[in-house]
Amino acid sequence: MGPERLAELIRDRQPCVVLTGAGISTESGIPDYRSPTGIWTKYDPMEYATIDAFRRDPVKVWDFYARRLQVLRDAEPNAAHLALAELERRGYVSAVVTQNIDRLHERAGSRNVIEVHGSIRTSSCLSCGERVTFAEVVRLLESAPAPPCPRCGEILKPDVVMFGELMPEAEIERAFELARGAALLLVVGSSLEVWPVAGLPQETLDAGGKVAIVNRGPTQYDRRAALTIDGSAGEVLSAVVEALDGYGESR
Ligand SMILES: [Zn+2]
Repeated sequence: MGPERLAELIRDRQPCVVLTGAGISTESGIPDYRSPTGIWTKYDPMEYATIDAFRRDPVKVWDFYARRLQVLRDAEPNAAHLALAELERRGYVSAVVTQNIDRLHERAGSRNVIEVHGSIRTSSCLSCGERVTFAEVVRLLESAPAPPCPRCGEILKPDVVMFGELMPEAEIERAFELARGAALLLVVGSSLEVWPVAGLPQETLDAGGKVAIVNRGPTQYDRRAALTIDGSAGEVLSAVVEALDGYGESR
C-alpha cells in the first residue's frame, strides 16, 4: 500500500526534507496555476505575474492580487499541511521547502519552512524600501485599488517572486543544501516544472538520497523515484501519520 510504504521510507531514511507546490493547497480551496482549472487558464501570467507587467500597470496587477488575497485570507491549512507539521514535531521531517506563498505551512504549525517564491506575509515599496504586513495591505486595499506606500505613496509590491525577478538567494541556497543532505526528499503537490524546485530532486539523487512523490498527475522524476503516489495529499499524508503511530507502539 502506498501510504504504508511511504511511512517506511520516512522512518528508514532520515533526514527527510519535504518539497511542496500548489497541489498541497488546492484542498484548502486555493487554485493552482497550471492544471486545467488553474489560475493561468484565466489570467495570462505575462500580464499579471511578471515584474515588467507590475512596473507597467501595478493597479491592474493588484486587481488580480486583491482577489487572490481574499481567497488566501479565508483559506485554512488542510489535512496535508497538518500532517507535515505533525511529522516535523515528531522528528520525522526536518524542513519544508515550499513554492507556495500562502503561509499555510506556518499556520499549520511547521517551523522550519523555506519559502523559495516569497510569501504574501509582507509587501514592499520598490522606491523607498518600506515594508508592510499582510493585514496592513488588506486594510489599504479597502480604500484604494492598489495599496500605496505609507511612507512615500508609491504602489507597494507583494513580496512574492514574480516572473522576471531574481529568486531570494538565501532561501534558494538553503533549499539546495537541504536537498543534497536529504536521505529522502518527499515531493508533495508539485509537478516539478518550475526552476529551482524542478532541480532539487536531482540534487538529492546525485547525493545518494531517494525521492518519493505524492502528486496528482505525472512528473519528470516519476521513473527515478523510489515511490510515487497519485492521490490526495491530505488523505495520503494523514495515512502516513497513522502508519507511523503504529511503528511508535511496536517499538
Ligand atoms: Zn515607499
